[in-house]
Amino acid sequence: MRPEALFRYFADIESLPGIGKRNRQALEKLAGPRLMDLLFHLPTGLIDRRYRPKISEAAPGSIATLEVTVTDHRPAPSKRAPYRVHARDETGEITLVFFHARADWLQKQLPEGEVRLISGKVEHYQNQVQMTHPDYMVAPDAVDELPLLEVVYPLSAGLSGKILRKAISVALATVPELPEWHDRGVVDRDDWPSFLEALKAVHHPDGADVMAPAHPARRRLAADELLATQLALAIVRDHTRRKRGRILKGDGHLRAKIREHLPYQLTGDQERTLHEIIADLESDKAMLRLVQGDVGSGKTVVALLAMAAAVEAGVQCALLSPTEILAKQHLASITPFAEAAGMRVALLTGRTKGKARSALLEAVAAGEIDILVGTHAIIQGDVEFKDLGLAIIDEQHRFGVQQRLALAGKAKVGIDALGMTATPIPRTLTLTIYGDMDVSQIREKPPGRKPVDTRVVALDRLADVAAGIGRAVNAGARAYWVCPLVEESEQLDLAAAEERYASLKQLLGPKVGLVHGKMKGPEKDTVMAAFQKGETSVLVSTTVIEVGVDVPEATIMVIEHAERFGLAQLHQLRGRVGRGSDKSSCILLRANEIGEVARARLKVMRDTEDGFLIAEEDLRLRGGGEILGTKQSGLPEFKLVDFAEHADLIELARDDARLIVMRDPKLESDRGEALRHLLYLFERDEGVRLMQSG
Ligand code: ADP
Ligand code: MG
Repeated sequence: MRPEALFRYFADIESLPGIGKRNRQALEKLAGPRLMDLLFHLPTGLIDRRYRPKISEAAPGSIATLEVTVTDHRPAPSKRAPYRVHARDETGEITLVFFHARADWLQKQLPEGEVRLISGKVEHYQNQVQMTHPDYMVAPDAVDELPLLEVVYPLSAGLSGKILRKAISVALATVPELPEWHDRGVVDRDDWPSFLEALKAVHHPDGADVMAPAHPARRRLAADELLATQLALAIVRDHTRRKRGRILKGDGHLRAKIREHLPYQLTGDQERTLHEIIADLESDKAMLRLVQGDVGSGKTVVALLAMAAAVEAGVQCALLSPTEILAKQHLASITPFAEAAGMRVALLTGRTKGKARSALLEAVAAGEIDILVGTHAIIQGDVEFKDLGLAIIDEQHRFGVQQRLALAGKAKVGIDALGMTATPIPRTLTLTIYGDMDVSQIREKPPGRKPVDTRVVALDRLADVAAGIGRAVNAGARAYWVCPLVEESEQLDLAAAEERYASLKQLLGPKVGLVHGKMKGPEKDTVMAAFQKGETSVLVSTTVIEVGVDVPEATIMVIEHAERFGLAQLHQLRGRVGRGSDKSSCILLRANEIGEVARARLKVMRDTEDGFLIAEEDLRLRGGGEILGTKQSGLPEFKLVDFAEHADLIELARDDARLIVMRDPKLESDRGEALRHLLYLFERDEGVRLMQSG
């Protein structure tokens, strides 16, 4: 149950007085429906209005607050000319300039003969001091309405900064202080304000330094969010480890048979990773391990050998993929080796239906299937294993903690869980997102891979690129053409892809195929199969080919509006080519006009193919805020953390979380009680439920 002190934090924005319906909807869209969403919407800038010169001293270009007496109004002589108001103090004159202004409104705001405080940017124009559209014009007795330090928030259309500031102020005034959940020593040492004080300091700053990530209030809030996450992860980890005491030790005969059939030797990194996994299987603790390895680094064979070891020990294995295409591909790549070694493999997806499905479920329940490959259909209620011992989850980040728990529920006694991800993540973030897991990295690529020739080309050369593809295709090449992300709307993504498909078809004839996320399974399979077999040579797609798809003959990757993609995603897309023996290329089509950061990011793509390096650079270039296109990748979102600046806090939070779980695993102490508030506040309360369930 959510602690009572948090009720106000979770209260609906609707409960704020003086916010109309339209503004409420805009606030909801921008930040979220609850007060805490508003409070966690932190300012990203600050306008300092404390500079209060006399008119004659006011530096041109500065933001100043002036105390003036209004002298006279000069209404606009024509529609296009501005309305001017003259004002002065004892040192000189200033002209206030308004375009498209309503005369009656201005008369009311600036009555002749009255004193007003005006704040805005000072300009010098033809030897005159002027201010165009002052940000504030208030009477001296309303000085409170003029924020001397004005915070600036990220805004969205239809919402003014003024409304947002007001809503946040009111929200701040109505929420209670919460119990301190951090270790007192840390709070004292770093001079952190309390949680509520920190929020107030950030939203109502008394100095410009609070904008710096190093400010104690900012660090404290980041530490709060990080500790909530790390604590939830530590609880899951503790829970998993406690539950189990099973040793999976095989005699190696299946692994040996598989190795006999492999046409290559494992790389050093593959061997080391496999060794770490086997050690986990053989120990009496539950495995919770993540294998990180770039696209094409050879994770599948490692997974296969790990499953063979588990089958040797007499248990069943599940291999989960995020999509049906990937599940089938896994099945295709492991089946020959698995069957050569005598293991029984089957596929279960959402499309396995009717009699075939019930027969398969019976076989799984009877223990007649050793390896069940599939999508999340595997973790549906009625799938029963005879004895599930090892679950491998490909593209781990797409499966949340919830799914991980559902899977764990399928096992009679705990389960060894192995995640695999090709989404390269900087080391600091690995801790943040997978803090509950041990990590093995495969950085070394299998021998013989050729570098992909990557070019960044402006979109106004699209016709040349298309013509080039036409020539390459006529010479027998196969190409992917990925269409841009449009504001996270699938509908628009689809429209863009269909348009490109039509225009390429016109240019290249019937050898063009289209695949997108809205297609049904069989339809998708047909298109993919045609491309795989070479019946089509250009595959236009939305980002559905993102993960895993393996067509070694494809050597060209075109990505339209590459600047809109996260680097991690570009990297994964590029990984689709360069898999065969022929030389491959990747063309990043960018908008004609792009900013400096976008330019730098695309340059990183051009300069390196090391996914981990790309991830680190992406983090560095983008700094805080959204990481690695979290929205698309399915990684958890962080609102208060600046990952470039708060890296040291991540490790602190992780260590603290592990210590807490060791000392007070049920969060029963006073601090534990406070920590429950933290978990609920940041909605990491799966952990609390888990503690209660067992
Ligand atoms: P990913 O890590 O993206 O899942 P895969 O497991 O699909 O990578 O492997 C990519 C390709 O590399 C496959 O065709 C696989 O057969 C091949 N491969 C894997 N390991 C090696 C190796 N040690 N030497 C040569 N080729 C390998
Ligand atoms: Mg793979």
